[in-house]
Amino acid sequence: MIPDLAALHAQGAAQQPTYPDPAAVDRAVARLRTSPPLVFAGECDDLKLKLAAVSRGEAFLLQGGDCAETLAGVTADNVRNKLRVLLQMAVVLTYSGSVPVVKLGRLAGQYAKPRSSDTETRDGVTLPAYRGDAVNGFDFTLEARTPDPQRLVDVYNASAATLNLIRAFVNGGYADLRQVHTWNNDFVRESPHAQRYEQMANEIERALTFMKAIGADPDEFHRVDFHSSHEALVLEYEHAMTRIDSRTEKPYDVSAHFVWIGERTRQIDGAHVDLLSRIQNPIGVKLGPTTTADDALALAAKLNPTNEEGRLTFITRFGAGKIREGLPDLVEKVTAAGVNVAWVCDPMHGNTFTASSGYKTRAFDDVIEEVQGFFDVHRAVGTWPGGVHVELTGDDVTECVGGGEELAEIDLGNRYESVCDPRLNRVQSLELAFLVAKMLRK
Ligand code: PEP
Ligand code: MN
Repeated sequence: MIPDLAALHAQGAAQQPTYPDPAAVDRAVARLRTSPPLVFAGECDDLKLKLAAVSRGEAFLLQGGDCAETLAGVTADNVRNKLRVLLQMAVVLTYSGSVPVVKLGRLAGQYAKPRSSDTETRDGVTLPAYRGDAVNGFDFTLEARTPDPQRLVDVYNASAATLNLIRAFVNGGYADLRQVHTWNNDFVRESPHAQRYEQMANEIERALTFMKAIGADPDEFHRVDFHSSHEALVLEYEHAMTRIDSRTEKPYDVSAHFVWIGERTRQIDGAHVDLLSRIQNPIGVKLGPTTTADDALALAAKLNPTNEEGRLTFITRFGAGKIREGLPDLVEKVTAAGVNVAWVCDPMHGNTFTASSGYKTRAFDDVIEEVQGFFDVHRAVGTWPGGVHVELTGDDVTECVGGGEELAEIDLGNRYESVCDPRLNRVQSLELAFLVAKMLRK
């Protein structure tokens, strides 16, 4: 049912590391194959049901996290901060946008990156490009940049630790709605968004007290459903983590609940599309501005031949300047063909530019403009703008310009920590949530 790894590679796989030692690859893959699943098939099925509600226009997807996780970034504070900002955003969207929100972390596996070039040259020295901690190290030395398959095992262990912490937070009381104020603690008090959030939290608290007083205290108040996702990029990792579920006897990629195919690896005859066509997880595909309606229809036919609801999510990332022109045709034709899909907007990857200081950045206004374009197009066509996919962090980094704090290009150097693409910081993320909630209300 699943081709072996060599057969998969033979189909042509873009963006793969070139490992110098094949025996070491075999050892790492063998280790992964015997490692326990990170998620259960039944949990993937639950998420698929939730995404089916998104595709029907009954729920909204919030998917977010780092562009690239790092092994060093797996600390309790870091994971909690990311979860916290996602919980805050979700409660804003649910309360102000009046819609159920499906919460999906871009975490516990988001360690491999596609790159525009195989190499990087600095001061006349050319080395392999950094492809994420799953592949090689960020330091610009030959040793660090040489792909090391043991890193796949390290990433598995880091993902297990991350998920363990997330599960404990989510089920152990941290995600309890009565914590709605606590999530806002230690936030910059002067921020108008923090104050706006405080106001909303007061209203929620009053509503909770009222519900309790009338005897209603459902389980949903005390915990949330939270799922994991990452780009399925390195075939060794995803293949080794694909297992036959004993209950259904069908294959699942148990490295995450949801995996997606990136813009650079969505070739219809390529290995990534083939592997993901064979697993049962809910999956996504990134669609950039050159995507034709025929491309999208071919992907849907191959990845979801039974047209199952919730199975397929199209994550469009056109760029603020292109979405209004490019998206309508795609949405109209896919809809006319009767294809079941959840439409989600990634307002990050079409809006990256290099600041004069040399930092890769994105403008908050472009991010908002793309989301607004996404809403406008879907409203005009009569389809549901199903969600947002964002690169963000719970920390006060300075990687994207603009937003309420009016971060300028000159500020980028203050706290630029991403090893790949620029992320929205905590204030910008919360601001985005309030703006999207407003779009949802209209
Ligand atoms: C990403 O999500 O980090 C990414 C590389 O996106 P895309 O495949 O859309 O370029
Ligand atoms: Mn990115």
